[in-house]
Amino acid sequence: MAGIVLENCCLVDIDPASVRFEKLRIADGLIAGIGAEVQAEPGDEVVDCSGAVILPGLVNGHTHLYSALAVGMPPPSEPPENFLQILERVWWKLDVALDIKSIETSATIGAIEALRCGTTTLIDHHASPNSIDGSLDAIERCLDSVGLRGVLCYETTDRHGLSGREAGLAENDRYLARHTDRHDGRFAGLVGAHALFTLEDETLSELSDLAKRHDVGVHIHVAEDPCDEEVCTTDHQIFLSDRLRSHGLLRPETIIAHGTHLANDDVATIASASCSIAHNTRSNMNNGVGYAPLPQLASVLTVLLGTDGIGGDMFAEARTAWFKMCDEQTALSPDSVLKMLANSARRASQSLGVELGKLKTGCVADIVLTDYLPAGPIHAGNVAGHLLFGLEARHVRDVIIGGQWRLRDRKVLGVDEGRVRREASEVSASLWERM
Ligand SMILES: [Zn+2]
Repeated sequence: MAGIVLENCCLVDIDPASVRFEKLRIADGLIAGIGAEVQAEPGDEVVDCSGAVILPGLVNGHTHLYSALAVGMPPPSEPPENFLQILERVWWKLDVALDIKSIETSATIGAIEALRCGTTTLIDHHASPNSIDGSLDAIERCLDSVGLRGVLCYETTDRHGLSGREAGLAENDRYLARHTDRHDGRFAGLVGAHALFTLEDETLSELSDLAKRHDVGVHIHVAEDPCDEEVCTTDHQIFLSDRLRSHGLLRPETIIAHGTHLANDDVATIASASCSIAHNTRSNMNNGVGYAPLPQLASVLTVLLGTDGIGGDMFAEARTAWFKMCDEQTALSPDSVLKMLANSARRASQSLGVELGKLKTGCVADIVLTDYLPAGPIHAGNVAGHLLFGLEARHVRDVIIGGQWRLRDRKVLGVDEGRVRREASEVSASLWERM
């Protein structure tokens, strides 16, 4: 099968950091070879990259595609004063207003935004309490139309009574069952759960059963705000991590989103179960919930980097993560941000059953071609410097996913972006109206 050969490129890897000025050949959806000796085969497309930086596709370690239509949304009539009020007056009004059309439009817009930023895989956490059944399939179809990979789940909660809980559990179960024998590296599922403070003990047991039955992890918000721990200790007389552990939710593939207010003992308990933590700097700042104990988390846990629904731009997220690390005087190094990006790719690889996030022979060909020509030397020792202070989403010119062009000369190929955006404007207006 004809492939693609990228010539005259500056191959920049982040896991581990490396820089090579070599050719790269793509065939059958994979990176087929890297090196000076790489030759184009008959029928191959040969692309001159003009010495610009080529990166592996980036992975968003925790996001909510359902919030993609919230940009520009009118603020609540009564301004929220704390995290719980932000949920009650903004996000829990938005999610109940979602119908299948707005779920699809949101997912497609979110996927396009991500693609344009060189983000090729999303670990998504979805909620639409009035349109649960089939919502994960709808999101998958939209991601697929743009070309992205996804690790999806539905946010189970007890906020909408028994029927809401059962519908959430059923959607996770149905989606996971559909993927049991799939293994195509494109989509996978996790068991989704909102947060401990909106989940009853019985629901936690059911979530755990589901995770065991499908042999996957749980994707849940934990200690994003102090209210999570307060509800645990007041209503259930137990600490956060003990509640998670006692219900069997701390599995090796479990993703804990945020962990902003985890106590030392909680971190130790979660670390002993080899779970991952998804850090979302901009969202935490936006909600004013505080700063995660990153140095401590990074020393014992796998920390992913996510946007928590604030777009799909991992360059911007990485840069802000670094600024915040400095602002908080954490003494973490710029390479710790690269590590978080690499961890997100490794975690997605684990779920999807393919190796992504690396420019390495045999890895899936998810490749970002930029027009970034470094103004100074670039080498393994300063990749983080270029990524945090030079490279931006605006440099992303082309994106290949699984060996196929998905963005070419900044044009989205899979969908008619103009039509999607025109339609999104109407769908958003109607969605905001329903809120
Ligand atoms: Zn989240």
